[in-house]
Amino acid sequence: MAEKIVAVKGMNDIVAPESAHWEWLEAQVRALFARYGYRNIRTPIVEPLALFVRGLGEVTDIVEKEMYAFEDRLNGEQLALRPEGTAGVVRAAVEHALLYDGPKRVYYMGPMFRHERPQRGRYRQFHQIGVEALGLAGPEADAELITMAADLWQALGVQDVTLEINTLGQPAERQAHRQALIAYFERHRDRLDDDAQRRLYTNPLRILDTKNPQMQALVEAAPKLIDHLGAASRAHFEAVCALLQAQGIAYRVNPRLVRGLDYYHHTVFEFVTTSLGAQGTVCAGGRYDGLIAELGGKPAPGVGWAMGVERVLELLKAQQRLPQPPAPDAYAVVPDASAWPTVLPVLRALRAAGVQVWMHASTTDGLGSMKSQFKKADASGARYALIFGADELAAGVVAVKPLREGLPGPITAQTTLPLAQVAQWASQLRCGAASTIPVH
Ligand code: ATP
Ligand code: MG
Repeated sequence: MAEKIVAVKGMNDIVAPESAHWEWLEAQVRALFARYGYRNIRTPIVEPLALFVRGLGEVTDIVEKEMYAFEDRLNGEQLALRPEGTAGVVRAAVEHALLYDGPKRVYYMGPMFRHERPQRGRYRQFHQIGVEALGLAGPEADAELITMAADLWQALGVQDVTLEINTLGQPAERQAHRQALIAYFERHRDRLDDDAQRRLYTNPLRILDTKNPQMQALVEAAPKLIDHLGAASRAHFEAVCALLQAQGIAYRVNPRLVRGLDYYHHTVFEFVTTSLGAQGTVCAGGRYDGLIAELGGKPAPGVGWAMGVERVLELLKAQQRLPQPPAPDAYAVVPDASAWPTVLPVLRALRAAGVQVWMHASTTDGLGSMKSQFKKADASGARYALIFGADELAAGVVAVKPLREGLPGPITAQTTLPLAQVAQWASQLRCGAASTIPVH
């Protein structure tokens, strides 16, 4: 046998029944976004490398060491697999003048790529669902986005997700804070680890984000940005907080929350959980008022967040909030291959009427005994077996056998339905499997 080819490390296949959980989550999220007037945007997975270098900042983990960057073999262009969604959305918004003539509230869903050490909740291909509100400067836009995420946790029934919020102010204020930070860390140089030493002059703010336990006390006592903020920045932050309070959304101000990317201004936030171990941030975002201009657009504000789909699903699983895998309405049991010419048009008519019908192997694979077909029918979770036996077909009927207790439809015991009136079965068999998945 030829050698097997396996998936790239840190990049996963998503197969049924888990894929049904993904579809279910995506459907919940789409419905929520529609209620807030956010519209879908789909941007390429491959972008010019410069988009991320300029958009994210050169001295960020992503650009320094996590990006899948490569040269196009055919024309030498410098390209990258997108590590996040905002830069591409902003590029598209500038390219298509969305700020003047297009949707300003958009959402995306899709794979992102970062060359990280794979572990639970951290992959090299992972998936984000993200929202961006472009051209909106007011605190109500920040509050709206945060509220949407809070709504989502509520709709999904997840517990133990805490909102942490902070403000990064404006560039001049950050600059003043930066000088104060550098001076402080210079005074404590001997206590800085290698990473911090390296970042002292390039990106001292990122030192605050350290995960090194030996540096926690040092970082705790460092100068706080909030003490360098002017009146306008304070007012923006206070307004966001007030709008969250007005909606009963709980939050914790975390002055050490800085976020990994350079493009954030004013509000930054994360939703974190203790239920997932080290990878506890399920959703993160903030305001990026400098980014649109940085990417060549006319200066305009923006705010957004992205959530990690794998982490949210993991959280739902840990809290037993995932739905049962969807089951078909009916499963066709066909004892003899000679029945196919009669059976297939019936199944097709049922499917056209919205009934989910699965069936067994093809004739060449062997139909299997009645017993094995019933076993498969049962394992599929189908509510009814449709039995196309020789006796039934001779009488112009199909036998319908309920496979579960307490079915919602009118058929609760084995019965027959006339083949000539297939369309009328639909209302009796269809239980709306996809939309009424019970949560356990
Ligand atoms: P972390 O601190 O965990 O590395 P981050 O700050 O790099 O996160 P963002 O760029 O803000 O993450 O991305 C938003 C969300 O995407 C994260 O909160 C997380 O849920 C998810 N995420 C980020 N990187 C990964 C990854 N490698 N694998 C799985 N999910 C990820
Ligand atoms: Mg990261």
